[in-house]
Amino acid sequence: MSERKVRVRFAPSPTGPLHMGGVRTALYNYLFAKKHGGDFVLRIEDTDQTRYVEGAEDYIIEALKWCHIMPDEGQGFGGNYGPYRQSERKSLYRKYADQLIEDGHAYYAFDTAEELDRMRELAKQAGTPNWQYNHITRGSMKNSITLSQAEVKQRLDNEEPYVIRIKLPRNEEVKLQDMVRGWVSVNTNNMDDKVLFKSDGMPTYHLANIVDDRLMDITHVIRGEEWLPSAPLHVLLYRYLGWEDLRPQFAHLPLLLKPDGNGKLSKRDGDRLGFPVFPLQWRNPESGDIFSGYREQGYFADAFVNMLALLGWNPGTDQELFTMQQLIDSFSLERVNKAGAKYDHDKTRWFNQQYLRAQSDEQLGLLFQKELDAAGIEVSHEYAMRVAKLMKERAYFIQDMLEEGPYFFHAPVSYDEKTVNKKWNAEARLHVEELKKRFETLQFFDAESLETTFQTYLQENNLGFGKVGPGFRLAVTGLGMGPSMFEVCSILGKQETVQRMQTALDKLPT
Ligand code: GLU
Repeated sequence: MSERKVRVRFAPSPTGPLHMGGVRTALYNYLFAKKHGGDFVLRIEDTDQTRYVEGAEDYIIEALKWCHIMPDEGQGFGGNYGPYRQSERKSLYRKYADQLIEDGHAYYAFDTAEELDRMRELAKQAGTPNWQYNHITRGSMKNSITLSQAEVKQRLDNEEPYVIRIKLPRNEEVKLQDMVRGWVSVNTNNMDDKVLFKSDGMPTYHLANIVDDRLMDITHVIRGEEWLPSAPLHVLLYRYLGWEDLRPQFAHLPLLLKPDGNGKLSKRDGDRLGFPVFPLQWRNPESGDIFSGYREQGYFADAFVNMLALLGWNPGTDQELFTMQQLIDSFSLERVNKAGAKYDHDKTRWFNQQYLRAQSDEQLGLLFQKELDAAGIEVSHEYAMRVAKLMKERAYFIQDMLEEGPYFFHAPVSYDEKTVNKKWNAEARLHVEELKKRFETLQFFDAESLETTFQTYLQENNLGFGKVGPGFRLAVTGLGMGPSMFEVCSILGKQETVQRMQTALDKLPT
């Protein structure tokens, strides 16, 4: 057993865009696989055709690619265990349902939807709001346990619609050891006879999931906590299908909670809470509604992944910044928390800021130039790089550098009103005039020369920075705040700086 190669799978249903909790599930599977030299498989679970959403599968694949959570095999990636889309494996499942019937672990149920509704209604009136098809109630329903063999045969021959249900034993304790939650035990008296095979000829999630995990030789099932209640049923299915020895180990991951800790962060939250819940932007094909994504908001994929990794797992140290390889090296399911993980948007922004600061000047210049290109601003790589290098300390996102530094790309079209009112007066004007004269004579227009000139001017006139600085900044940038003016002016160059000072003198009244 211990010799088995680790194989894990991410098994989303294409019912919409991938929620960031889904990305985290994929990530933990990926980290676990890579850590143990195993395979990470992508399987698309599309047995519920009524919930199929156009474009969802492509979205899932694109999101995983963006995050560099690359499957070794699976839908869209090839492999020896395909097909990896359950709808294409349809013909495979029936024989397992038949085998379960033959062995007495499943049965045909002919109850119509109306009959089931009626039972639920009657139970409700009798004070049992949660009626279930189970080891007790099945005795009074229309199925191959209550009907005679002849009648069952006749109904099958007549092609009457039916489902196949698991036949749960009475009063049996089902135990499993979850790698995150420890021992979990549920009594079959508290479980229901779930449908395994539907009247449309498709297996349900439960049957298809177990059959595929076995056929794909999956060794560990790492998935969201919402599947924990299904795990005992899955344990029984492995047993009844004769696969107990090969049953994967389970690890159920904690929920992602809203920032206030009040409930699960759900797909339906969309942009309502002021941040995206999806990795990539999603356009609902039916309503046309657009939901924002981390990618489009300017997050680095690595920062997003780093943030997600720590949402439910901790390395046992203070380290917060991890490359993917470092995550792989440090990851273990033992350090996944049981308690739900609160999403913290400020922390996500902080991660992005750290990744932005860690970029090389060269790379930052390229990214910034791309951003500028998209805004229709054409500058040299060198220029983009110099601005980016100066602005990066003040930015969380690449686009912040443009938003905070428009003056690098055009002269001020207006002047910040508050600064004008507070700082622009006859004295400020005089200082700008004087500085301008001195700047005009400079041979080298680098930050150091500019600073020396500026400081000399202050000293000669016994002035504090606050008397001269703000007016000077206002004249050149139009703003009241920003990075070092000596750096700003050295990037703008002598001609542009001096011209802007003159324009401000011409335009601004005192
Ligand atoms: N198709 C299920 C989902 O959408 C997969 C659950 C599992 O991993 O077993 O979450």
